[in-house]
Amino acid sequence: MGIDYEAIRFWDAYSVAEDIRLDIEENPEKESFEKYFMPSRAEIKAILKAPLRWTLLHQFIKDRYLERRIWGFEHHRKDMLDLVAVEYQTILEGYGINHGFPKINIDASDFNNYEENEMQELVNQLRELIPIEQIAHETFQLLFSNRKFLKKFNQLVAGYIRYLKKSEYPDILKRDGVLYRKTLPGWAKRGIFYRDKGRCIQCSRDLTGVIVTGEEVHYDHIVPLAVGGTNDPGNFQLLCRRCNLSKGVNTFTSEIYPTYWSLHLEK
Ligand SMILES: [Zn+2]
Repeated sequence: MGIDYEAIRFWDAYSVAEDIRLDIEENPEKESFEKYFMPSRAEIKAILKAPLRWTLLHQFIKDRYLERRIWGFEHHRKDMLDLVAVEYQTILEGYGINHGFPKINIDASDFNNYEENEMQELVNQLRELIPIEQIAHETFQLLFSNRKFLKKFNQLVAGYIRYLKKSEYPDILKRDGVLYRKTLPGWAKRGIFYRDKGRCIQCSRDLTGVIVTGEEVHYDHIVPLAVGGTNDPGNFQLLCRRCNLSKGVNTFTSEIYPTYWSLHLEK
């Protein structure tokens, strides 16, 4: 029970998060999304069956983006494996991971100490050590805070769900293009509750129950199930009862957040 504390370095997360945000928010064509998001049937089933701690967004960050970036870097620089090795060593240092190889110094032309096949072997071994899941989870921390991003992301996911056929996915679909509703586990509810600071994201009503009792907390699908939304934790937000009832099947989120302090109020 309670909040998990984990070592978060935010080392590579900002640049990864910004690349993904740009792709999803600023360049939201379905084709470009498909370029990164092509889950297999088994993956769809596993991820959409029930809310998982490793969310759809984690999977997207890792498989469709981070690995592509890590491998892509190598691919584009085949003739400069030494620079790839330096890049990988830098990432590993950023995460405090001891790779056990001497640090390559570009200025000192340390590259010359390696034969080409030795350099490839070094690159392979360094790549294995890159903490892709940790980088994905750190990137998730940043992107999960941004509901506008989540809305766009889930709308693109909905573009897939809407075309799934009940005959092909009988255990996850209620009818063509609509997933069964799943109950959110406690850990997911807590995460969403804390992200939204215990307030309705539309009217800012306090839902903590500390001062005002009797307010119902609604865990609302940002993109409703009826239009292809998922039960993934990244597709939820806090609403009060009144705002949820007036929302209907609309896709809505707000861009108001409780900040640490305001620049404008003299309080
Ligand atoms: Zn409200």
